[in-house]
Amino acid sequence: MKKLFIFGTALFLVLGLTNKGSAHSNYDSSHSVDNGEIRWGTYHGSTKYTSARNNAISKWDAVGVINIAGDTSTTIEDLSFTDYSANDGVLGYWRQYSGADKIAFNDYYFQDMSDCERNHTALHELGHALDLEHNSVSGSVMNSGKICRSSLGNHDVEDLKARW
Ligand SMILES: [Zn+2]
Repeated sequence: MKKLFIFGTALFLVLGLTNKGSAHSNYDSSHSVDNGEIRWGTYHGSTKYTSARNNAISKWDAVGVINIAGDTSTTIEDLSFTDYSANDGVLGYWRQYSGADKIAFNDYYFQDMSDCERNHTALHELGHALDLEHNSVSGSVMNSGKICRSSLGNHDVEDLKARW
Protein backbone atom coordinates (compact mmCIF):
# COMPACT_ATOMS: atom_id res chain seq x y z
CA MET A 1 0.00 0.00 0.00
CA LYS A 2 2.89 2.30 0.63
CA LYS A 3 5.16 3.35 -2.13
CA LEU A 4 8.54 1.71 -1.83
CA PHE A 5 11.68 2.96 -3.43
CA ILE A 6 13.70 0.06 -4.69
CA PHE A 7 15.67 0.59 -7.85
CA GLY A 8 13.62 3.66 -8.58
CA THR A 9 9.95 4.17 -7.99
CA ALA A 10 7.93 1.09 -7.24
CA LEU A 11 4.29 0.69 -6.31
CA PHE A 12 3.14 -2.60 -4.91
CA LEU A 13 -0.32 -4.00 -4.47
CA VAL A 14 -0.10 -5.85 -1.20
CA LEU A 15 -2.44 -8.54 0.05
CA GLY A 16 -5.08 -7.91 2.66
CA LEU A 17 -4.48 -4.31 3.53
CA THR A 18 -6.88 -1.97 5.22
CA ASN A 19 -7.54 1.02 3.04
CA LYS A 20 -6.72 4.28 4.72
CA GLY A 21 -6.16 6.53 1.76
CA SER A 22 -7.46 10.01 1.29
CA ALA A 23 -10.67 10.75 -0.53
CA HIS A 24 -8.90 11.71 -3.70
CA SER A 25 -5.96 10.29 -5.49
CA ASN A 26 -2.67 12.06 -5.38
CA TYR A 27 -0.25 12.34 -8.24
CA ASP A 28 3.48 12.03 -7.79
CA SER A 29 4.59 12.48 -11.39
CA SER A 30 6.13 9.05 -11.61
CA HIS A 31 4.42 7.24 -14.46
CA SER A 32 4.91 5.53 -17.80
CA VAL A 33 3.17 8.11 -19.97
CA ASP A 34 5.23 9.46 -22.83
CA ASN A 35 3.84 12.19 -25.09
CA GLY A 36 0.27 11.42 -24.14
CA GLU A 37 0.49 7.69 -24.60
CA ILE A 38 1.75 4.41 -23.22
CA ARG A 39 3.22 2.02 -25.75
CA TRP A 40 3.41 -1.45 -24.28
CA GLY A 41 5.49 -4.38 -25.42
CA THR A 42 7.80 -7.19 -24.34
CA TYR A 43 11.10 -5.47 -23.60
CA HIS A 44 11.21 -7.09 -20.14
CA GLY A 45 9.30 -10.24 -21.11
CA SER A 46 5.62 -11.13 -21.22
CA THR A 47 2.71 -12.27 -19.05
CA LYS A 48 0.53 -15.32 -19.36
CA TYR A 49 -2.34 -13.33 -17.87
CA THR A 50 -3.23 -11.75 -21.17
CA SER A 51 -6.94 -11.46 -20.39
CA ALA A 52 -6.30 -9.31 -17.31
CA ARG A 53 -3.69 -7.30 -19.20
CA ASN A 54 -5.98 -6.69 -22.18
CA ASN A 55 -8.96 -5.79 -20.01
CA ALA A 56 -6.91 -3.20 -18.13
CA ILE A 57 -5.53 -1.72 -21.33
CA SER A 58 -8.94 -1.48 -23.00
CA LYS A 59 -10.67 0.04 -19.97
CA TRP A 60 -8.08 2.75 -19.34
CA ASP A 61 -7.63 3.45 -23.05
CA ALA A 62 -11.39 3.85 -23.47
CA VAL A 63 -11.38 6.87 -21.15
CA GLY A 64 -9.87 8.66 -24.13
CA VAL A 65 -7.23 10.62 -22.24
CA ILE A 66 -4.08 8.53 -22.65
CA ASN A 67 -3.62 6.37 -25.72
CA ILE A 68 -2.55 2.89 -24.62
CA ALA A 69 -1.44 0.84 -27.58
CA GLY A 70 1.05 -1.78 -28.62
CA ASP A 71 4.62 -0.84 -29.35
CA THR A 72 5.59 -0.76 -33.02
CA SER A 73 8.80 -0.46 -35.01
CA THR A 74 8.32 3.30 -35.11
CA THR A 75 7.48 3.87 -31.44
CA ILE A 76 9.43 3.54 -28.21
CA GLU A 77 8.20 0.97 -25.70
CA ASP A 78 7.11 2.55 -22.42
CA LEU A 79 5.83 -0.44 -20.47
CA SER A 80 6.19 -4.23 -20.35
CA PHE A 81 3.74 -6.66 -18.71
CA THR A 82 5.53 -9.57 -17.05
CA ASP A 83 5.07 -12.28 -14.42
CA TYR A 84 7.14 -13.38 -11.46
CA SER A 85 6.61 -15.80 -8.61
CA ALA A 86 7.40 -15.14 -4.97
CA ASN A 87 5.75 -15.71 -1.60
CA ASP A 88 6.15 -12.03 -0.78
CA GLY A 89 2.63 -10.80 -0.01
CA VAL A 90 2.56 -8.74 -3.21
CA LEU A 91 -0.02 -9.40 -5.92
CA GLY A 92 1.73 -7.26 -8.48
CA TYR A 93 3.66 -4.09 -8.96
CA TRP A 94 4.43 -1.26 -11.33
CA ARG A 95 8.01 -0.07 -11.33
CA GLN A 96 10.12 2.32 -13.35
CA TYR A 97 13.03 0.81 -15.23
CA SER A 98 15.44 1.98 -17.84
CA GLY A 99 14.43 0.83 -21.30
CA ALA A 100 10.80 0.40 -20.34
CA ASP A 101 8.83 0.41 -17.11
CA LYS A 102 7.41 -2.84 -15.87
CA ILE A 103 4.15 -4.21 -14.52
CA ALA A 104 4.66 -7.63 -12.97
CA PHE A 105 1.95 -10.02 -11.84
CA ASN A 106 2.83 -12.45 -9.07
CA ASP A 107 2.04 -15.94 -10.33
CA TYR A 108 2.41 -17.30 -6.80
CA TYR A 109 -0.97 -15.69 -5.99
CA PHE A 110 -2.40 -15.13 -9.46
CA GLN A 111 -2.69 -18.84 -10.17
CA ASP A 112 -5.31 -19.16 -7.43
CA MET A 113 -7.09 -15.86 -8.01
CA SER A 114 -10.39 -15.38 -9.82
CA ASP A 115 -10.55 -13.60 -13.15
CA CYS A 116 -12.03 -10.48 -11.55
CA GLU A 117 -9.32 -10.40 -8.88
CA ARG A 118 -6.69 -10.60 -11.61
CA ASN A 119 -8.55 -7.88 -13.50
CA HIS A 120 -8.50 -5.62 -10.47
CA THR A 121 -4.78 -6.07 -9.99
CA ALA A 122 -4.07 -5.31 -13.65
CA LEU A 123 -6.34 -2.23 -13.63
CA HIS A 124 -4.69 -1.08 -10.39
CA GLU A 125 -1.12 -1.42 -11.60
CA LEU A 126 -1.89 0.24 -14.92
CA GLY A 127 -3.43 3.04 -12.85
CA HIS A 128 -0.03 3.52 -11.23
CA ALA A 129 1.55 3.64 -14.67
CA LEU A 130 -0.91 6.46 -15.42
CA ASP A 131 0.26 8.34 -12.29
CA LEU A 132 -2.68 7.49 -10.05
CA GLU A 133 -2.05 6.55 -6.45
CA HIS A 134 -4.02 4.67 -3.83
CA ASN A 135 -7.35 5.85 -2.49
CA SER A 136 -10.18 4.46 -0.39
CA VAL A 137 -13.04 5.61 -2.62
CA SER A 138 -15.71 2.95 -2.97
CA GLY A 139 -15.55 1.28 -6.37
CA SER A 140 -12.14 2.65 -7.33
CA VAL A 141 -9.57 0.31 -8.81
CA MET A 142 -6.97 2.23 -6.80
CA ASN A 143 -8.14 0.59 -3.59
CA SER A 144 -5.48 -1.81 -2.30
CA GLY A 145 -5.91 -5.52 -1.80
CA LYS A 146 -7.28 -8.64 -3.44
CA ILE A 147 -10.55 -7.32 -4.81
CA CYS A 148 -12.98 -8.57 -7.45
CA ARG A 149 -13.35 -5.70 -9.93
CA SER A 150 -13.13 -5.66 -13.72
CA SER A 151 -14.17 -2.10 -14.57
CA LEU A 152 -13.09 1.40 -13.65
CA GLY A 153 -15.08 3.39 -11.12
CA ASN A 154 -16.35 6.88 -11.90
CA HIS A 155 -13.69 8.24 -9.58
CA ASP A 156 -10.96 6.54 -11.59
CA VAL A 157 -12.18 8.14 -14.80
CA GLU A 158 -12.40 11.55 -13.14
CA ASP A 159 -8.94 11.19 -11.64
CA LEU A 160 -7.37 10.31 -14.96
CA LYS A 161 -9.02 13.27 -16.66
CA ALA A 162 -7.96 15.58 -13.83
CA ARG A 163 -4.36 14.40 -14.01
CA TRP A 164 -3.91 14.60 -17.77
ZN1 LIG B 1 -0.85 0.05 -5.65
